[in-house]
Amino acid sequence: MGQLKLYPCLEEVLAFHSYSEKVDALYKFDRGINKDNMFGDNVEYYKQIGLQNGHTGQDISCQRGVNVIASIKSWVREEHDDIQDINAGYGVVLVSTEPYIWLDGEEAYVKTIYWHNYKNLVELGDIVEVGQPLGLSDSTGFSTGDHVHFGLKKCDKDGNTLNHGNGYFGAVNPYPYWAYWDLTNMHICSESCKLDTDKKMGLAYQAVLKRKSDEEGKKFWWDKCVFTFMDEAMKQTEYMRITRILQIGKFVLQLAKKL
Ligand SMILES: [Zn+2]
Repeated sequence: MGQLKLYPCLEEVLAFHSYSEKVDALYKFDRGINKDNMFGDNVEYYKQIGLQNGHTGQDISCQRGVNVIASIKSWVREEHDDIQDINAGYGVVLVSTEPYIWLDGEEAYVKTIYWHNYKNLVELGDIVEVGQPLGLSDSTGFSTGDHVHFGLKKCDKDGNTLNHGNGYFGAVNPYPYWAYWDLTNMHICSESCKLDTDKKMGLAYQAVLKRKSDEEGKKFWWDKCVFTFMDEAMKQTEYMRITRILQIGKFVLQLAKKL
């Protein structure tokens, strides 16, 4: 059983070297109020549709009509249109075909959610491979601009959400899993899972902490497993601080444009 690694959910993202870099780049765009929300953002705004703790996924701006693609091998559990759910618009909900070990060490199936499409390209029960188009992007449902709302939940084999009462209807922040994707996509584990070269060390720091490795950190992590680094770094306040800085940066940009 593998560690959970989420493939990017938009085809255009592939043009970027790193997925978390792409998410960061979102903050350079001015594309409307609820297009680039991170997990937990805008509590007051989302109360309008019954989300008491704020945004339940990661929004990703894109042009209309971009392929929205599967992040993990799955089966199609739900396929919505705006008649069924006016808030969600057109969307697809997938459940992984096998269980994974999550970054917190728990073992569970994976539910991924893709909202606001122009139309869906799959049907209930279809098996979809990683990278397979699920729909075309748009702004249907509770949305003010073209984007994909990507959601992530733990679930059982049948797709029943496991921690539904966590304040986000079971959703968890997908961002750390994209950082994990960056790490593995950089092939730093292809030969050895140890941080035993300057290059690997540099890439790991860049993917998770978004900075160069300092001498002290390098000495500590040298020859240790990259996945241990990943787990530890995610728990550190530094990682949380980066997420916060991204949010503040976004706020400042919005403010600057209003002045
Ligand atoms: Zn959203």
